Amino acid sequence: MLSKNDIIELNITSLTSDGDGVARTAEGIVVFIPNTAVGDEIQARILKVKKNVAYAKVEEIITPSPDRITPDCPVSKQCGGCVYRHISYDAELTAKRQKVVDCITRIGKLDESLVGNIIPSENIDGYRNKAMIPIGLDKNGEVTMGFYARHSHRIVPCIDCKLSPEIFNEIAADFYDFIKDRPELVDTDRNRQGIRHLYLRYAEKTGDVMVCIVAGKRSFDGDTALYNSLKEKYNQIKSIILNVNPDDTNVVLGKKSYTVYGEDCIEDILCGLRFDIAPRSFYQVNRTQAERLYGVARDYADLSGSEVLLDLYCGAGTIGLSMAKDCKEIIGVEIIPEAIENANANAERNGITNARFICADASEAAAKLRGEGITPNVVIVDPPRKGLTPELIETINKMHPDRVVYVSCDPATLARDLSQFETLHYSVKEITPVDMFPRTAHIESVCLMSRVKPHR
Ligand code: SAH
Repeated sequence: MLSKNDIIELNITSLTSDGDGVARTAEGIVVFIPNTAVGDEIQARILKVKKNVAYAKVEEIITPSPDRITPDCPVSKQCGGCVYRHISYDAELTAKRQKVVDCITRIGKLDESLVGNIIPSENIDGYRNKAMIPIGLDKNGEVTMGFYARHSHRIVPCIDCKLSPEIFNEIAADFYDFIKDRPELVDTDRNRQGIRHLYLRYAEKTGDVMVCIVAGKRSFDGDTALYNSLKEKYNQIKSIILNVNPDDTNVVLGKKSYTVYGEDCIEDILCGLRFDIAPRSFYQVNRTQAERLYGVARDYADLSGSEVLLDLYCGAGTIGLSMAKDCKEIIGVEIIPEAIENANANAERNGITNARFICADASEAAAKLRGEGITPNVVIVDPPRKGLTPELIETINKMHPDRVVYVSCDPATLARDLSQFETLHYSVKEITPVDMFPRTAHIESVCLMSRVKPHR
């Protein structure tokens, strides 16, 4: 029997969807070990034993996997952001494509051949145009700033994140210099007034940067001097915002934002269109790769100019708006009112007049649109991780579009939903995994379905 603190030899044979290594003991117990690679031979220390599975950590690497590379970040093991910094990008892409294949075959009961090649990210580092950097006090009362450890709210100190553009790290270092000797300015559980997060956004095409400080109240000692020094040092900073969040919640941003310098928004260009980025607007974090993702979705949508396109879970409208000139009409649906405001503003600022946006739950809006006799030719869905509801899939089926394009951030719920579509009038034609988030465990996929059976 396996017990806590046992040291055993293990061979890593696969990776979980979270990027942990998987090995099997001679007795058939499955052991999960983070920070390992397929092909590693290790000595592992058992940390926890459950009925058929155990959790362990690496004690020593006996023979390293050929996939291994030296991690170029000193906190990669502790930080909850990257899980693949210790393997080559090729090995990471293989693991991510395999994750999609596993879901499609095991959950979706579909054929592996439907999964095409994975589209790698052009940039593996520095690709994030958004960073939320928590600030707190460590157990010695020292100011700490960085990223959360995995499954935790413990801050791993880091102001030099490899996934961030250089300018974020420079601003973070300056901000740390400002706050490191002022623990009284930092929010703690007892004092919900202080500073909680440094939140940075970057419009890659225009070069504009937004600095947003999240605090429990509107001002703090030294704020004006800090704002002045930031705007003088970085001419890319076009907006400094103080967001007030006094609530006892895990949600980073509060409802009120005050522009303390420059504009309320920064502006970026995506698929040739201009988009405003406000602190609360949703915008794809890897811009270059978002263009590729939307490019696959556009190919799959195969528009000729005469179609009605229904864009469900549309966020700020980016997918639909990028296809507006190729169809007759776009109807976008999104549940967050601010995102709908952004979508309308984005249509207007790009001179797009054939788009309308509805603020509602996607399942309810689709049922209502169907009731009104709307029959879209193409439906695009881009739901959050939980995927679609069975009712929405039924409604889409009854709207009988020629094609359904499913953009998914979770291959498991994608696979579940595809299997329901397959019982109706739709057949999966192709799935393309797109790596939007190198070094993290996340993988995006785009799937094309066509109506194959005649509509009843
Ligand atoms: N397609 C957009 C956003 C995708 S993210 C883009 O590419 O930028 C998923 C979106 O679904 C989020 O904006 C979220 O607010 C929205 N959403 C979540 N639940 C929803 C629901 N039940 N109905 C409609 N939209 C929902």
